[in-house]
Amino acid sequence: MVKDQIERRGVSEPGVLRAMQMVPRHLFVPEVLRGSAYEDCPLAIGEGQTISQPYIVAYMTEAIRPKPGDTVLEIGTGSGYQSAVLSRLVRHVYTIELRPQLAEAARARLEETGCANVTVRVGDGAGGWPEAGPFDAILVTAAPREMPDQLLPQLKPGGSLVVPIGTGDQELVRLRRGEGGFDREVLLPVRFVPLTREVRRGD
Ligand code: SAH
Repeated sequence: MVKDQIERRGVSEPGVLRAMQMVPRHLFVPEVLRGSAYEDCPLAIGEGQTISQPYIVAYMTEAIRPKPGDTVLEIGTGSGYQSAVLSRLVRHVYTIELRPQLAEAARARLEETGCANVTVRVGDGAGGWPEAGPFDAILVTAAPREMPDQLLPQLKPGGSLVVPIGTGDQELVRLRRGEGGFDREVLLPVRFVPLTREVRRGD
């Protein structure tokens, strides 16, 4: 998976590649899909949600430039896999998941896989987690329609926010907080599940 799907497409940061090698992805997918865990695609994790394609997880991880002392916020815990990858690279990961059952399952898997430096919270992550911030990086793994401005004050100077924006076909955008303001870069076309405000019946 790491060589063929990730390195071949240009992710090269050795720490990121190591973290992708270390985290057992099959433990983050439903048991019936374990045989497909290392395939080059997203997979269903229940409640209409998905664990991202391995390459996208690696790409987004590299895009925030994680450093060992960092505190990172993730919005959209899902399976917990992205958090587990980050947990191997930074000091602490705070992650928020709207759907209680997914959050519970993720918490259990993170514990099982020894990711003691991840804190999972159930709730709407659209407003971030101001009490735990400011963060060295923020990763949003569900797509809002527009740039979530409420998150910007929670980013430290020098930090990066990576977020998929739009409906249907989306753009992965990186904002970097510099001295004088924010620099915006469009990185990749992507497709994430939408960032929603509440769990509607049938979702
Ligand atoms: N990072 C995940 C994949 C995320 S899928 C992984 O590694 O598996 C997107 C997740 O965002 C879904 O689980 C969905 O329930 C969650 N989500 C959607 N809107 C949200 C919101 N407003 N706040 C927090 N989580 C949200």
